[in-house]
Amino acid sequence: MKPLMHGTAPLTARLEPWMERVVADAAQCRELIDTFGSPVNLHDFSSLGRNVEELRSAAARHSVDFQVYLARKANKTIGAIDAAVDAGCGIDVASFHELDQCLRRGVDPELIIVTAAVKSPALLRLALENGVVVSLDNRDEAEDLREVAESCGVRARVALRLATENALVPPTRFGLRAAEWLEFLAGPPDPSRLRIVGIHFHLNGYSAEHRALALAESVELVDALVDLGHAPGFIDMGGGIPMSYVDSAAQWAGFWEALAGQPAGSGQITWKSDSLGAVGKKPSKDVYPYHQSPVRGQWLDTVLAVEPAGAGSIAELLAGRNLQLRCEPGRSLLDGCGMTLAAVAFGKERSDGVPLLGLHMNRTQCRSTSADFLLDPILIHAARPRRAREPFSGFLVGAYCIEEELILRRRFEFPQGAAPNDVIAFPNTAGYLMHIVESASHQLPLALNVFRDGEAWVQDEIEDRVLQA
Ligand SMILES: *Cc1c(COP(=O)(O)O)cnc(C)c1O
Repeated sequence: MKPLMHGTAPLTARLEPWMERVVADAAQCRELIDTFGSPVNLHDFSSLGRNVEELRSAAARHSVDFQVYLARKANKTIGAIDAAVDAGCGIDVASFHELDQCLRRGVDPELIIVTAAVKSPALLRLALENGVVVSLDNRDEAEDLREVAESCGVRARVALRLATENALVPPTRFGLRAAEWLEFLAGPPDPSRLRIVGIHFHLNGYSAEHRALALAESVELVDALVDLGHAPGFIDMGGGIPMSYVDSAAQWAGFWEALAGQPAGSGQITWKSDSLGAVGKKPSKDVYPYHQSPVRGQWLDTVLAVEPAGAGSIAELLAGRNLQLRCEPGRSLLDGCGMTLAAVAFGKERSDGVPLLGLHMNRTQCRSTSADFLLDPILIHAARPRRAREPFSGFLVGAYCIEEELILRRRFEFPQGAAPNDVIAFPNTAGYLMHIVESASHQLPLALNVFRDGEAWVQDEIEDRVLQA
C-alpha cells in the first residue's frame, strides 16, 4: 500500500511491529490523543533487550567482560529505567534529578555512574552518600568532590574522565589529558579522599577508530595508575554507538542527491531550499546519519578487533588486564522504543500559496540537536475527517508564533490529502527526539509520556514527579 504521506525525497523509517499495529488503528490513535493530548509520546521497550543483547554477544565473542549503562538523558521516562534494569543494564545519569529518580526506583548504586558535565554540590553529595561512581571531569570539580567527601566522611569512588590527545580525534571539552591527571594525583592537594575505580571518556560522533584510539590511550593510563598503586577496574567508553533509522542505503544517498539538485529558493525538497548543512551530494555533518553501517554489535566487533600498536587487539589489551569494558549508549539502546503522535489542526496556504499542514505540536517536541529529523512521518486518516481531503505537497508547521516554526524542514507529499481529525505519527523517537530539547515556551504544556501495559496505554510515572517538583 502506498503511504498516505511521504517526503518529496522519501526517507522511510524502519518500524517495530508494535508501531505497525498503532498506525494501523486510526480509532486508537484518536483515542490516545483525546485521552493524553497532542502530541503524546508512546513507549514500548520490547526492543531494548534485543539492542543490549547485540552488544553483549559482540563483547562475548571477544571474551571481554562487559557492562552496558543506559544514558538516561536520551529519554526521561521512568519506564526507560525499568527497561534497562530488566535487561541487566546500569544507568548513566547527567543530573541530580536523574540520579535521585534512579535511586528511588531501586537501581543498584553499583550500576549507576554520574557523568554530568557540570555537577552541583547536591548531586555530588547524593552520589557519595549512596556510593555511586562519579566521572571526574577536572581539578576544580575534584576539589568540590573532596570537600563533599570530607563532610560525608567517605572516600569518593571516581572514574577519571580522559580527554584523548590523539590528533586523529577532534579536540574535546570533556575530561583532562592523561598527563594532567597524573600530575593532579601527585598532589598537592592530597587526593587520598578519591578512590580511582576506572577511566571514562565519551567522544563526539560515531567513529569506531576514534573509540579504539581512546581505549588504547585509556589502557596506557591504567598502566600508569597501577604503577602508582591504584587499582582501576574498568574503562567506560561512553556512548555514540551507531544505529540506523532508515534501512535503504540507496534511499539515503538519493535524498542527498535530490537535496543537492533542488533549485535555490524553490522549496522543492526543503523549506526555503535549506541545505541542512550539506556540501555537494554528501550527507550533511549537521544531521544524525539516519542510515549507516556497521551499527551496534558489528560496530563493537570492529572496535574490539582493532590492533592499535601491534600490542594485540583492544579486546586483548582489556582482557589481559582484567579490565571491564563499559559503555553508555543512549540512542542506540532506545532504537525501536518510542513513537510520537500528533493531531492535525488545520490545512492552509502560506501567503504565496505554499501548502501548510498545522499540527497540535511544536518543533521542540520531535527534534534533537541535529538540523532536522530525517524520517517520513506516517499519516493516519481518520474514519471521519472534519472536511474533504485534497491532494497536496507542502510543509508541517507548529504552534510557536514564529515564521520558521517548521515541525520538520522537509517537504512532504500527501497524495490523498489530510484534514483535521487525522493523526501524524513520528516513528522511532525514544532516543533524544522527544525530550532532549523539548520546551514549554508559550506556556504550552510538555507532551505526556505513556507506555504500553498489556493492551492499555498508561502514563509514565515521570509525569507524577514533574508535578511534585
Ligand atoms: C550523551 C552521552 C552519552 C550517550 O550518547 P549516545 O550518542 O546517545 O549513545 C553517553 N555518555 C555520555 C557521557 C554522554 O554525554
